[in-house]
Amino acid sequence: MSETWNKRTTAVHGGTARSGWGEVSEGIFLTQGFVYDSAEAAEARFIEAGPDEFIYARYGNPTVAMFERRMAMLEGAEDGFATASGMAAVSGALTSMLRAGDHVVAAKALFGSCLYVLEEVLTRFGVEVTFVDGTDLEAWRAAIRPSTKCVFFETIANPTLEVVDIEAVAELAHDAGALVVIDNVFATPVYSRALEQGADLVVYSATKHIDGQGRTLGGIILGSKEFIRKTVEPYMKHTGGSMSPFTAWVMLKGLETMELRVRAQTASALALTDALQGHEKLTRVAYPGHASHPQHALTQRLMGAGGTVIALDLSTQAEAFRFLNALQIVLISNNLGDAKSIITHPATTTHQRLSAEQRETLGIGPGLVRFSVGIEDTGDLIADVMQALDAV
Ligand SMILES: *Cc1c(COP(=O)(O)O)cnc(C)c1O
Repeated sequence: MSETWNKRTTAVHGGTARSGWGEVSEGIFLTQGFVYDSAEAAEARFIEAGPDEFIYARYGNPTVAMFERRMAMLEGAEDGFATASGMAAVSGALTSMLRAGDHVVAAKALFGSCLYVLEEVLTRFGVEVTFVDGTDLEAWRAAIRPSTKCVFFETIANPTLEVVDIEAVAELAHDAGALVVIDNVFATPVYSRALEQGADLVVYSATKHIDGQGRTLGGIILGSKEFIRKTVEPYMKHTGGSMSPFTAWVMLKGLETMELRVRAQTASALALTDALQGHEKLTRVAYPGHASHPQHALTQRLMGAGGTVIALDLSTQAEAFRFLNALQIVLISNNLGDAKSIITHPATTTHQRLSAEQRETLGIGPGLVRFSVGIEDTGDLIADVMQALDAV
């Protein structure tokens, strides 16, 4: 029955396991440990725990398992391991599989902390990393070699919104025997078909659209049962980045409304992009879901929609700051995927750590702003943006 469900039904009901009380809303099992009927039962569970047998909350917990199963069903994955944050998922996915001497090829346009893990952490342990322009297939082809263990990229890059062709990169990676690891935040679980398009592991920061209401940090690694249980789980459960039961409960509640929120946000992002076409104060309006984006056809083929984030370019930092400061509904903050519209000036915040040259090669100019579109009334959002641009 659940195999025929569409995502929206799965996001409400998938993976639910009720206790003997028959509660409607998922139970929060705030327990670190679990009691065994006998010493023999404890021994048996440590040898091999069944799917509904738990040992310690760092290894697994009933509420966390509900979230993992629901997410695995949504993504079409065999299994998943939930983590304390999106970065625990990214670093866990990579570190659990890599060893000294391995090579990684990654797109250079990445979330700042992902860049830190690849550039500063993995290299310290003897992993070699090559960065490429994620949109350039020839660059991927040239960089991938026999020692390449995995490729890593964001489907839609933060904050420039360039789209990587999952299918084409996966073909190159698989020909070389490398795994494909995707940070899929900007695509969202609503539009993702990454596993059928060639990804081996899909990673989410659940902090973004899954919670979607600015409350908790979380993440998840999704993939084959074999990989999740044999490679990811031992690493995560012994190094300590597991998700808490309370967080899993918040995320389960978030999943119930995720598709309604994300589709409303996507519709507003498209309407806003339309309204801003040719605006005299903007040198560029980038949204992969709009026909004006150079990768619109690729976006439609991969995801069928452009997600919930748009990028706007004003000419200078002074103009960008005046625009941000004039907004009345849209909040100046640095999260994304939230019900509340949020705007960020990447050059001075999320990407401040980078040198001016690095920002230049990534297309993060002084006038660029990243706009995470919320679920407010579309007309109110357009009016707020227009009056703020008038103030520039
Ligand atoms: C936010 C984000 C992360 C990190 O997630 P946290 O939950 O903040 O740890 C990783 N990748 C991308 C693309 C993100 O947007």
